[in-house]
Amino acid sequence: MADADLRATSIREVREKISELCPSVAERAKRSSWGLKALLLLLHVVFVGTVFVLDPTLVRRTREEPWYTAAYLVLLLVTLVQYILASGSSPGYVIDAMRAGSELHATFINTSMISKQSTSKNGSLTPISRNQLERLNSRTNSSSWLQQVMNLYPPGSSSRDWTCPYCNVIQPPRSKHCHDCDKCVLQFDHHCVWLGTCIGLKNHCRFWWYIFEETILSVWTVVLYISFLRSDIDKEWWKDFLGIILLAALIFCLIFLLLLLLFHSYLALTNQTTYELARRKRVLYLRGVPDRVYPFSKGICRNLYTFCCSREKFYILEEVPPMEELQARARPYTWREIISCRCC
Ligand SMILES: [Zn+2]
Ligand SMILES: [Zn+2]
Repeated sequence: MADADLRATSIREVREKISELCPSVAERAKRSSWGLKALLLLLHVVFVGTVFVLDPTLVRRTREEPWYTAAYLVLLLVTLVQYILASGSSPGYVIDAMRAGSELHATFINTSMISKQSTSKNGSLTPISRNQLERLNSRTNSSSWLQQVMNLYPPGSSSRDWTCPYCNVIQPPRSKHCHDCDKCVLQFDHHCVWLGTCIGLKNHCRFWWYIFEETILSVWTVVLYISFLRSDIDKEWWKDFLGIILLAALIFCLIFLLLLLLFHSYLALTNQTTYELARRKRVLYLRGVPDRVYPFSKGICRNLYTFCCSREKFYILEEVPPMEELQARARPYTWREIISCRCC
């Protein structure tokens, strides 16, 4: 602990000195974030606006079937609003969770306590009543942050009192310091440069919805460009050329968005983060976890419920299951377990 404190102090001092000597560094990061946001909004205007300018049949269709264009423009508006909301959302910072812990209405759910109290005989999790939750809250609020965090790691784990050298806070499992936000983020996924914020516990679901809406919008825009290029109307060569260039760029973005959507759907279904998947061998408490075992997964249905419904409301701090339990999960399924749905 003494070593960690010393290291934290020296790193903090170095950082303070750098920001004193070079205050423009932080400003530059902020400016580039705003620049990328403006670029993204501009790309929407260019792709959508150009197809309306190039294609006279689309303007005619708007007069004949106004609902078609109205639906398309509503989708564009919803996507942009989702983007603005996602870029302004908090990923769930560790420091906020600590502060919330001392407030009356804050809710901490220590999943280890929940699973101990609500796991039925066959090992499945049952819903928890509000009274049970309040009893758990009063108990968790009374204990210190350090104790709560230490309880989330298996006994003897070297990560139990790991202190972030930048924020000087004890890191719960699944959290990581983000150097762009300069804060520790709960359930850190990645820092999104396009949104200018981290993706973590509290905004991962919003991020998924944003990618989903952006994908649908891209598919619809691709259809509009293809119908323009296939139309029989007389058009100048440069209109065809511009249409083909923009369509190629759009298809490239669409492939990227589709892959991103599939990847984040997989993460949501298995209760993983990009960071955990990419750095599985580097994260201390994930070392030795058998392949194809998702340590924080509680079954597809429960994972989806947590991803969509409860993360925005509560600070969910998840326990690292003991290694014996994880190794037991790696054993092959028997027919009986497939029928009784062992994973859920
Ligand atoms: Zn930190
Ligand atoms: Zn960040």
